[in-house]
Amino acid sequence: MLQTIDEQSISWLCLGDEETPCNTIQSASLEEVEYQADYTLTILDAETGQAIQSRPDGAVIALPQCTCGARTWLKADYSMADFRRRSSYFEFSNDQGIVQLRTLKHGHARNLVLHHLLYERGKAPSPPILPMVPQEERAQLVMELGLTASLWFTFHLLTQSTDMAMFERYFVETVAASKQVSTQGTRPQLPGVGDVSTI
Ligand SMILES: [Zn+2]
Repeated sequence: MLQTIDEQSISWLCLGDEETPCNTIQSASLEEVEYQADYTLTILDAETGQAIQSRPDGAVIALPQCTCGARTWLKADYSMADFRRRSSYFEFSNDQGIVQLRTLKHGHARNLVLHHLLYERGKAPSPPILPMVPQEERAQLVMELGLTASLWFTFHLLTQSTDMAMFERYFVETVAASKQVSTQGTRPQLPGVGDVSTI
């Protein structure tokens, strides 16, 4: 799973494999990362090491090999059905139980951002299914890229619903407030929710 991502580099947690757990943080530049459109999942027999099953498993992003020998692959073939699954996002409600905000879990958001950055570099033939924050707007953001993408996910979903006006106000105010944090020391506020730091 990706731990951090910026315009030039990533870091991730290498789990190793069943026999030799690794659990170390690795890092690499985006140049070392490869998008693979047709990944084939191969299942090996535990005793003989022979392939017992091999099947197409969608697009992935292959990270460089860790010093432990293991490789990490990230999901790069998300569908809208994946994002609507309850396990994909966090949901925040107000005191009346009314949902105020959904944010995509950061692991998914960072995978999408990485896919998008590779696409911008010509290293992936197509962009991720969710539109990502455009390059010119990213330059203005002070929020971490993965966090920005997790909020952007809500923005995209709400373009398909009737809550657009509410969310537009929320997103604009949150981004504006996050910019103030670095210069004026104020905290971003969610309309009707309270201090964002409680999330
Ligand atoms: Zn490792």
